[in-house]
Amino acid sequence: MVRPYLNILMIMIINSEYMPKKSRKTRQKEQLEKNISNMADLFSADELLAEARKNGLGVGIATIYRFLKGLSTEHKLHRYRCNNRNVYSKSIRGHGHFTCQKCGKTHHLKITDLGFLSKLVNGKICHFQIDVVGLCKKCSES
Ligand SMILES: [Zn+2]
Ligand SMILES: [Zn+2]
Ligand SMILES: [Zn+2]
Repeated sequence: MVRPYLNILMIMIINSEYMPKKSRKTRQKEQLEKNISNMADLFSADELLAEARKNGLGVGIATIYRFLKGLSTEHKLHRYRCNNRNVYSKSIRGHGHFTCQKCGKTHHLKITDLGFLSKLVNGKICHFQIDVVGLCKKCSES
């Protein structure tokens, strides 16, 4: 009984070659997804655009924005706000800033432990962003 099943499978695979060609949009999306795997843990739309163009993909920034927005909505990418722009990550689940009220400098906080949050959230956490405001060490000493 194994053989007929395999034959059917083979026919299906062969037939798929003759299926209507994937739309330009679908192919573009697949190629962009491939490009994402080359990106750093945290990347911006501009960086993805540069990578895509480097790999010969003729896309514009509007396409990149749409693509990233789509993936974020599907929860395939986590999106953060950093330096007045959006940054994206496949793997990083938290983004934190500590901004000094006096000098205005922003430092990144590396938050890896979600323990303190999961106690507060009644549900499953996808990702989070924290903005902490205060007085930096340098400013508090002067
Ligand atoms: Zn997320
Ligand atoms: Zn940031
Ligand atoms: Zn400061």
